Amino acid sequence: MIGVPLDKMREACGVVAVYTEDIAAPMVHRALFELQHRGQEGAGIVSTEVDGTLHVAKGLGLIADALPYRRIEELPGSNAIGHCRYSTVDPDLSIQPFVATTPYGRLAIAHNGNIKNAPELHSRLESRGALLSTALDTELLVHLIAQSQAPDFPSALRSMAAEAVGAYSLTMICNGRIYALRDPNGLRPLVNEVVKTGWVIASETCALDALHATYVREIEPGELVTIGPEGVEARQLLTPAAPAPCVFELVYFSRPNSTVFGQSVNSARIRMGMELAAADEEAGLEPPDLVIPVPDSGVPAAIGYSRRSGVLYEKAILRSHYVGRTFILPDQDSRTSQIELKLSVVKASVQGLRVMLIDDSIVRGNTSRQIVQMVRDAGAAEVTMRVASPPLAWPCYLGIDTPDRDELVINRAGSVERVAELIGVEDLRYLSLDGLRRAAGGQDYCRACMTGEYPV
Ligand code: SF4
Repeated sequence: MIGVPLDKMREACGVVAVYTEDIAAPMVHRALFELQHRGQEGAGIVSTEVDGTLHVAKGLGLIADALPYRRIEELPGSNAIGHCRYSTVDPDLSIQPFVATTPYGRLAIAHNGNIKNAPELHSRLESRGALLSTALDTELLVHLIAQSQAPDFPSALRSMAAEAVGAYSLTMICNGRIYALRDPNGLRPLVNEVVKTGWVIASETCALDALHATYVREIEPGELVTIGPEGVEARQLLTPAAPAPCVFELVYFSRPNSTVFGQSVNSARIRMGMELAAADEEAGLEPPDLVIPVPDSGVPAAIGYSRRSGVLYEKAILRSHYVGRTFILPDQDSRTSQIELKLSVVKASVQGLRVMLIDDSIVRGNTSRQIVQMVRDAGAAEVTMRVASPPLAWPCYLGIDTPDRDELVINRAGSVERVAELIGVEDLRYLSLDGLRRAAGGQDYCRACMTGEYPV
């Protein structure tokens, strides 16, 4: 197992599409490895030939297990799409791309996001006679497309979007063409790149570096990109709504080496740390002796804090990359021992010092409490914490796996001071909403998990 976060919100999916003169599936496969952080419970690739025949490979687990090379070699065709996902329902059935026969031809669809009015759509489609075989909201999109009676596939997508409310970055194959569509709010990322032999579209730019692709631009909210034998066509299929890209892509989900929503993820995270340091400076707080990132997601913010404040930075908490996931273990005792197995503190670095831990976010708080205790046990004289995002108080309905409201530590505790007590630190401060906005480049974002103000 590769390293998986301990107490984090979980990104739901990664998508990719390749249109090339070569065989596309190995390129999609390579790109999926780079998107593995966006989904680790299943993956699939669908390729197509000129006649529209679809070839499918899917499996459960990490890319290497789900899609071994021998299966990729069996996928012919110069177009392919891929998907990796987390799943909370129907793990066997929910691996994408989803494949179906529609009036527009054989369709394969890979979806990053979440349809907020899925229960309503489910009932509506069933009352119209649709036979639904999974609990996947992606299947609802397919039925909406199939039932649309629109004259062509792009019009069917427009009709689907008129009924489906929520987040979707889609890559699709229909009749030998690649399509990519982003929802009108642009909630989840989707970028367009060019390679020597064709085009690549993916959730993040990091997926494309391995293919030596050149970044072209982000696909705009509501924009449809079509790639076929006649070339690339981009058009504004859906009327754009108020822009609401997910700010948590910059806080935590996306890889630091990606550019997302026009921002370098790593630079944005460093700025979040600098904002935290500036706020402490403004509050006249005495700086700690040492800044320590909670691995690995706290690293850029801790670097930023150190840069701005001049406080020494050290990676004094080490993470083992050979321990499995914590969230598959059944009880709290097992989780505790897993965290101790997974993380260790460099005693010589913290003994007798006033240390500040920096993390990107706190969700339930259990892991933070254990890490704080480990640092204390290692001999730190004082432990404080800074969090590079505002408190997470609301669930996400837009493609991110979050716990129920009453499981979120800020709601359980009722105040930041009480969270500090629960996790056992002398002082705890979060990044302000304004600080986050500045660090994220000053544009409008979805911040609903922090404010409760949902964009759709
Ligand atoms: Fe992202 Fe939070 Fe909005 Fe969900 S609610 S899309 S995690 S910012």
